[in-house]
Amino acid sequence: MKKLLIFTLSYLLCAIFPCREVVALEDYNTVMKRDILSLFLAYPEHVTGVEKSAEGNVYVILKSGKKILYDDRKQKTHDEKLSNPDIQDMLEQPYPLNSIDDLPDVNFDPGRGRIYNLLHEVYGSNQGIIEKNLINCNGWQFNKQNGAAEALKLVLKDVNEASKTNAKIGGFVYPINGTYNYRYVSGTGRLSPHAFAIAIDVKSHPNDYWKWNTRSNGEKRMRAYPKELVEIFENHNFVWGGKWGHFDILHFEYRPEIILKARYFSTPIQESSTWHFGAPENEQVKEYINLIDNKLN
Ligand SMILES: [Zn+2]
Repeated sequence: MKKLLIFTLSYLLCAIFPCREVVALEDYNTVMKRDILSLFLAYPEHVTGVEKSAEGNVYVILKSGKKILYDDRKQKTHDEKLSNPDIQDMLEQPYPLNSIDDLPDVNFDPGRGRIYNLLHEVYGSNQGIIEKNLINCNGWQFNKQNGAAEALKLVLKDVNEASKTNAKIGGFVYPINGTYNYRYVSGTGRLSPHAFAIAIDVKSHPNDYWKWNTRSNGEKRMRAYPKELVEIFENHNFVWGGKWGHFDILHFEYRPEIILKARYFSTPIQESSTWHFGAPENEQVKEYINLIDNKLN
C-alpha cells in the first residue's frame, strides 16, 4: 500500500513538474537536432540525409551513401573523444564566439576533434584527390571544396583591409607559415587538418603551441592577439586554436559546423521556443528542419 502511494505520488509530481529524466531526454534530442542541422548547413552539398535505425541509432547520411553515427553511447575520456569522435563528441564543447581573456581548461578544445570520414568525403579521399582540389589563394594552396578556399580568400582580403587602419594585424599574420601540408598531427596517427588544406598557420611565435611553451606564456601570447583578427577568421567560419586548452595560437581551421552551431544555437534550450530557435529563416532551412523532424520523431 505504502509503495503504491509513493508510486502514485511520484507519478503525479512528474506530471506536474517534468521528471529530470524526461527533461534530460528532451534536451538530448534538442541538442542532437541542432547538431544535425548545423551539419546540413555547414556541408550543404555533402550531407544529404538523416535516419534512425530500428535499434534507435541516428545516422547522418553523406552524398556517397556513407553514414556517420551521431552517438556511439560510449563513455570516453577527452583523449578518446579526440582520437575517435562521433558527431555528438565533435560538437559537444561550445566554441566561444566572444573574445576570451584566459586560456580555457586544459581539456576544453572545441573543434579539435575531427571526423575523418566526413573530411575525406568532403575534401578528398586520399592525397592525390586532395591535391587535385587545391587552388591558389594569394600564393597559398587551399581546398576548393565546400567553400574553404573561397573563405580563405575573403579572410585575406579582410585582413589586408583591416591592416590599413590597425597596423598591428598584418604583423600577426605575415609572413604566413603554411597551409597545405600532407602530414600527421605530431605524436598521433591522425591526419592534420593541414593535410586536407583546410587550415592555415599564420606568423609563428615561440609561445604559440602547447608543446613548445608553458600555459602562462601561451596565455600571454593569446591575450596579445588582436581581437579584430580573430573575428575576421570566425566571420568566415574558421575556428582559432587560441581558444583551445591545448593552445595552437598560430592555427586557424575552416570548420563551418563548429562556428555555425555557435552562431545559431547558443541560446540556452530553456529560453528557446523551438529546438531550431536561432537558425536562419529561409526555404532551404525549413526543408532541413522538416526532414530532421520527420526522420527523428
Ligand atoms: Zn596549424
